[in-house]
Amino acid sequence: MPDLWDVDHWVEEAALLPITKFYPSAITSSTSVPVQDVFHKLLTFVQEDRLFVRWQIICQSYDCVRTIAEVDDIHESVGSVVHCYFCEEEYEISTDMLCPVFGFKQHFREKIRQRAKKKHHLLHRPGQRF
Ligand SMILES: [Zn+2]
Repeated sequence: MPDLWDVDHWVEEAALLPITKFYPSAITSSTSVPVQDVFHKLLTFVQEDRLFVRWQIICQSYDCVRTIAEVDDIHESVGSVVHCYFCEEEYEISTDMLCPVFGFKQHFREKIRQRAKKKHHLLHRPGQRF
């Protein structure tokens, strides 16, 4: 049974690692939460200013499938023309060419790091009662 709380947990664990960006599919493969549910959960983190989201424009050529560019705003990009420098194809950007990628807001990452340090400190102080 997939548990959305696993997404919170994954994000907080990943914030402690030297990961700069991640795809929702990375969470799905380690938590079994469906990718659509992961995506919606991550968007709530964006609203809460813990994460940012950017959109990668993926080349639609079967042999290429490279990331052509990365943009902040999905609405600005859809309908404009993009050129793939790898395979020389040109495309009008559509929503299915855009792949969301998430990253940590710096202040959120620092908060998680501070909290991890504190936990460590509390657990290892001898004779401390809670
Ligand atoms: Zn290409």
